[in-house]
Amino acid sequence: MIDKETLINRFISYVTIDTESDPNSDTTPSTEKQWDLARKLKNELELMGMTEVTIDENAYVMATLPSNVPHEVPVIGFISHFDTTPDFTGANVQPQIIRDYDGQDIVLNADKNIILSPEYFEDLKQYKGQTIITTDGTTLLGADDKAGITEIMEAMQYLIAHPEIKHGKIRVGFTPDEEIGRGAHKFDVEKFGAQWAYTMDGSQIGELEYENFNAAGAIVSIEGKIVHPGYAKGKMVNSMYIATDYINSLPRLETPEHTSDREGFFHLYRLDGGVDNTKLEYIIRDHDKGHFEARKAMMVQLADELNEQFEKELVTVEIKDQYFNMREKVEPVMHIVDIAEEAMKELGITPLIKPIRGGTDGSQLSFMGLPCPNIFAGGHNFHGRYEYVPVESMMKAVEVIVKIAEITARQ
Ligand SMILES: [Zn+2]
Repeated sequence: MIDKETLINRFISYVTIDTESDPNSDTTPSTEKQWDLARKLKNELELMGMTEVTIDENAYVMATLPSNVPHEVPVIGFISHFDTTPDFTGANVQPQIIRDYDGQDIVLNADKNIILSPEYFEDLKQYKGQTIITTDGTTLLGADDKAGITEIMEAMQYLIAHPEIKHGKIRVGFTPDEEIGRGAHKFDVEKFGAQWAYTMDGSQIGELEYENFNAAGAIVSIEGKIVHPGYAKGKMVNSMYIATDYINSLPRLETPEHTSDREGFFHLYRLDGGVDNTKLEYIIRDHDKGHFEARKAMMVQLADELNEQFEKELVTVEIKDQYFNMREKVEPVMHIVDIAEEAMKELGITPLIKPIRGGTDGSQLSFMGLPCPNIFAGGHNFHGRYEYVPVESMMKAVEVIVKIAEITARQ
């Protein structure tokens, strides 16, 4: 049904364009080079015959596939991001295509002895016999999320070539800067004009997600008092000791390395300290809104207790909410998840519905008025040299998009 070689070529033409985003930049897109792919996508959408193709001043690309049925069908959308993470280089990607994968070690780079092994990455085993695209071991691949973009483009191309498949109006949207948490920031939900949408930004085949963390960042600042150590008795206040007390007062097992599924955590990801001043940087994550609020309150209360103990305002906590669990926005329109699940089942794909231990553009979009569950794009081991994507999973994702369009028009 979907032409495999066309899909592979399209994917490779996208991943070989460097689109790394930059959290230290204030512009949108955060890097000039993201325009390269944004403009290419706009051109391709036009050539394909999509309508209302636009690219705005922040590089957001949107397009329409018009309805081909006379009756009213809700407008739906599909969204992906074209930037890649700044965690690992995305420059000079040299994809390798492994056909008819034999289930053994894949040598990514013989010179540097970099091996993608099913012994370590067990998910690989399920793709024996399939075509796998990997890196050359020196860059990331960028399947996150150029796999998603490829799938949406291929699905639109397919629907245009097969007018016998009935569908309503479909909107597609490609965004910059998702990897630095800003993919949805300048997304014009009103202009997009869909009743709901799906991000094609999940990992392995079958993934379907509509729950994510509630997220906040906290900065704990601790003031000390520096005095000559020889004459410090009763005078010196060593902020690092207070910081240690603070750290140890938070539940030690509620950290990323001790939690899974729906368990939340406090994550201390940076510590900068001297006698005079210590700064602790945390992220707080929890699927449950009540627990999330309790975690934030606990961090403030701990500071209060230490301040009481020292009878001084030594510890201050600054907490900023980052994003919220989209579940509360999706549950009232649960049929949008049901449609995706139904599409997978009709295609013989086992849906893997689980809470995301992170956030997505979809969570922000859901709170901006566009309910937006997340669907698999097929890749594995995102954000590093071991990233890979089975082509067959990408082909299935294309079919899921087509099927969702079909089912939506059926209702
Ligand atoms: Zn992504």
